[in-house]
Amino acid sequence: MNNYDILWQTILSELEQTYDEDTFAEVFEPLQNIHQVSNNVIYIVTPNEFIKNRIQRLYLSKIQDLALKNSGETLRFKFVLESELEPEYDIVTPDLDLENRYRLGNLNGSFRFDNFVVGKSNMFAFRMAMKVADQPGVVANPLYIFGDVGLGKTHLTQAIGNYILDNNPHANVLYVKADSFIEDFANLLKRQQMDDFHAKYRDIDVLLVDDIQIMGGATKTQMEFFKLFDILYQQNKQIVITSDKPASELKNIMSRLTSRFEVGLSVDIQVPDLEHRIEILKRKLSSETSHAEAMDHEVLNFIASSFVTNIRELEGALKRVLFYALTNNIDITVEHAQEALEPLLKTRRKSNQLNENNYDRIQSVVSDFYGISIDDLIGKKRHSKYVIPRHIAMYLIKSNHNIPYKSIGSLFGDRDHSTVLTACEKIENELKQDKTLKLAVDTIIKKLNQV
Ligand code: ADP
Ligand code: MG
Repeated sequence: MNNYDILWQTILSELEQTYDEDTFAEVFEPLQNIHQVSNNVIYIVTPNEFIKNRIQRLYLSKIQDLALKNSGETLRFKFVLESELEPEYDIVTPDLDLENRYRLGNLNGSFRFDNFVVGKSNMFAFRMAMKVADQPGVVANPLYIFGDVGLGKTHLTQAIGNYILDNNPHANVLYVKADSFIEDFANLLKRQQMDDFHAKYRDIDVLLVDDIQIMGGATKTQMEFFKLFDILYQQNKQIVITSDKPASELKNIMSRLTSRFEVGLSVDIQVPDLEHRIEILKRKLSSETSHAEAMDHEVLNFIASSFVTNIRELEGALKRVLFYALTNNIDITVEHAQEALEPLLKTRRKSNQLNENNYDRIQSVVSDFYGISIDDLIGKKRHSKYVIPRHIAMYLIKSNHNIPYKSIGSLFGDRDHSTVLTACEKIENELKQDKTLKLAVDTIIKKLNQV
């Protein structure tokens, strides 16, 4: 075995540890041999087109990272088919103008599977998204992706579109944010150009609708969307929908739509853990060519520990640190990173304080109003004297802050998601019928608004 063979075997064994058994067996195991090395390019023969494409799109950067880590050299890999091993090996270039294609689908070409860092929090969503992209309309329809803001829903959705277009440049992929859909519909309705609307939306193979929760309340648009959904669905056209909450919790979206969303597969994206966040930072760093040099682990750790719940903010923080060091011409140390991020951290400390006080305040105003103690409000007693105020407080926190049900549960003695959800819905329904309750809640809201 020469050095390259040893390197390749090392890379394979690390890949084996990284990916699940099925992926490894299917994709990497067949790649036992290096065909040739020339000009620092390592050619590896793949058994078929499918695996070749898959590696190039999904795993190439990982393989290159591992090569760099294990050899200290930047090596390039080319995965080829046996049939392509002619003496003059040409790299095939796509015949379509990429820019144009992405513009057509309304996609941003930089959201791809291979720059989406996978960890526990998004593994299932990622795998399903890849499967859907591999076989649109077959695996899960619709694919419904939900999660809090900044966790990669748009990235993953657009990656599906980009992947499908890469495989089939003629596929008619359309990405829309729910608000543009509403706008489009309203404009064309006004101008009585429904034919244009239908032409645009009904003649597509893959429909990606981002942030569906925005459609809440837009009844006419929902009706139109419902029709469109059925037409596409019946033709096995792939539909992908994202949202900030599960379909069952969508507000003011007609149930015939939400039940359609539930026919397919729902996947959620959670907050990434520390290790995963550090990986994301590393990946972003390596894509910023001017900062190819590694950043100290301590600095990465500091940034990743300070920005926990939103990857967009995490990226913003990294950019800020890089920019601060660059403009001041200083090294990137934890201390300097702290200086760079102080303004962001300060604003956040303030708003956290406000929020916390506000949850407390809702709890205390409600318990005051009903003459019970805060301990009883958040405690386990089941007498209606406690249960009603408890539910009202949960409802008010949800409607004022829209934090996840689970987080509200944690403010009430660690109650679970569904308990809080049921409580909020109950109050919401009762408010429509029960005048006394409505009066009480209005009075509480007035008190809350008095500073
Ligand atoms: P959402 O749509 O859920 O609000 P986005 O998809 O817009 O979130 O993601 C916010 C930012 O974070 C984007 O720049 C995106 O590229 C990045 N991002 C999110 N998840 C990942 C990930 N797993 N790996 C790399 N970048 C990510
Ligand atoms: Mg988004």
